[in-house]
Amino acid sequence: MTNSQDAIFEDLNRALSGISDKDLRFFPIDRFKTQLEILLQHRDQCPECNMLLKKTKEVVPLIPIAITDVGKERKQVDRLLRDIERHLRKVHHLLPEYYYAARYGSIFAAITVVISLIALWCFPSDNSVLVIITLTFISLILGFLWGNIKDKRFAGEIEHKSKK
Ligand SMILES: [Zn+2]
Repeated sequence: MTNSQDAIFEDLNRALSGISDKDLRFFPIDRFKTQLEILLQHRDQCPECNMLLKKTKEVVPLIPIAITDVGKERKQVDRLLRDIERHLRKVHHLLPEYYYAARYGSIFAAITVVISLIALWCFPSDNSVLVIITLTFISLILGFLWGNIKDKRFAGEIEHKSKK
C-alpha cells in the first residue's frame, strides 16, 4: 500500500467533501496533504511523526467544524497544523511556505537600498526618496518572484519523492 492510499487520506477527503469551495479557500489543504505524506514516510523511524499522525486522526473529523466556525475546534486544528509545521521544519527540513520568496525579496530590497543610497550620495537628486522607494519596491517584487520559483521547485521535489 502506498502512502497516498492510507486511510488517513480517505478520512480527510470524507471530512472535506461536504465543505463548499468558498469555505475551503483558507484551509491549506495541498500543503497539509504533502505534510501528511512526509509524516507517513517517517512514522516507522520517528516517534514524533507517529504521534502527530495519531493526533491528526483524532483532529480530521473536526476540520469541517473548524473551517466554518471559530471555536475550540478551530484552535485544535490550528495547533495541530502548527505542531506539524514545526516538527517537519526542525527535524525533516521541510521549508515553510514562501521561504525563499520572503528571503530573496528582503535581500534584494536591502541591496537595492544600499546601492541607491551610494548612487544618490555620488549623484544627488531632488526626488531621491521617490527613486529609492520605487527601486526598492521593484526589487522586492523581483526577489519575491524569483524566490517563489525556487519554493515551487522545492515543493515539487518533495511531492515527487513522496509519490515514489
Ligand atoms: Zn518526524
